[in-house]
Amino acid sequence: MKKLTILGATGSIGVSSLDVVARHANEFDVQYLSTYQNVALLFEQAQKFRPRAVAIYKEDSVHEYAQRFKEIGVEIVTGFDGVLELSRRDDVDIFVNALVGAVGLQPTLNAIKPGRRIALANKETLVLGGELVMRQARQVGAEVIPIDSEHSALLQCIVGEEAAAVQKIVLTASGGPFRERPETEFGRISVAEALNHPNWTMGPKITIDSATLMNKGLEVIEAFWLFGLAPEEIDVVVHPQSIVHSFVEFRDGSIKAQLGLPDMRVPIQYALSFPKRLAADFPRLDFSQLRDLTFEQPDYEKFRCLKLAFDALAEGGSAPAVLNASNEEAVHLFLKEMIRFDQISQIVEEALTQCPRNGRCDAATLLAADQTTREYVQSTFS
Ligand code: MG
Repeated sequence: MKKLTILGATGSIGVSSLDVVARHANEFDVQYLSTYQNVALLFEQAQKFRPRAVAIYKEDSVHEYAQRFKEIGVEIVTGFDGVLELSRRDDVDIFVNALVGAVGLQPTLNAIKPGRRIALANKETLVLGGELVMRQARQVGAEVIPIDSEHSALLQCIVGEEAAAVQKIVLTASGGPFRERPETEFGRISVAEALNHPNWTMGPKITIDSATLMNKGLEVIEAFWLFGLAPEEIDVVVHPQSIVHSFVEFRDGSIKAQLGLPDMRVPIQYALSFPKRLAADFPRLDFSQLRDLTFEQPDYEKFRCLKLAFDALAEGGSAPAVLNASNEEAVHLFLKEMIRFDQISQIVEEALTQCPRNGRCDAATLLAADQTTREYVQSTFS
């Protein structure tokens, strides 16, 4: 039995992770769960999976549940300190980080321990602290296994190959809901339109990131750290059907791809069972029903965020932290209808020129860059 922590248990990835766990009750045992503030769902999950403890980020949402958790023998810790405390506990084999945003970095760093597997859905962990996280993981002998569908696809293609045989990786992008919308109309895009992703059902932050293609930019940086390639060996292709989850090109010109229906339970299960595959009856891809699979170049002018992410990766140091923090704040302002959709990329671009950056990559420097950038965006645009 592998013992699990799932941070962000009540979000889209957390719920899918528990679905996978429930299908393999003899393989996985839940030890710790956390939520931001959805205590009602967390309690249901606790009743079913009986973790040792849960963390509730927003302390004021605990209320009447305190007693109910106690009755079923589940310890509660609260606040971000509570999340950090759970991330430091030792009796865990697999640490699933499904938090949203840069807040995921510190728990990941805490959880890196010898023999531990970090199953990572929180891509900001690597965007912000890729160098730090990968170095610490190597030093202590921890594994970092991606949950993100593209990176899972890449891992599935690369497994069993020599690292030097990989020439290039190509991340597929759905292109989001505005692939065919002229840029001149971007100022009028509503929150509801931007939250309506054509292929995937996800939380609000990542759905907006998919609409601006920042999500793909963050994934490029994530792939850089996971697979150790040069930035110019990482490419993006728009594939609106989201069936091919990514490609790997080898030095002999051969290309491998991983395909499947857009269902996050597949990459989640693979991250938990890797390198084994467990049986599952998830819906299958039916080639007789398959329409065209199409591929096109992304429009880097129209979707500036993708270009800015490549630029931040090339610059290195704390530039990706500035990119990420300014984007998180801009998306937050857009969701509150305080800025227009087209201002998200403008804010990120401005932050990348205005906010101080340097080449160091220790946790204190990165978190300071993150904080300074947030303050800059908040004071300038809200
Ligand atoms: Mg993805």
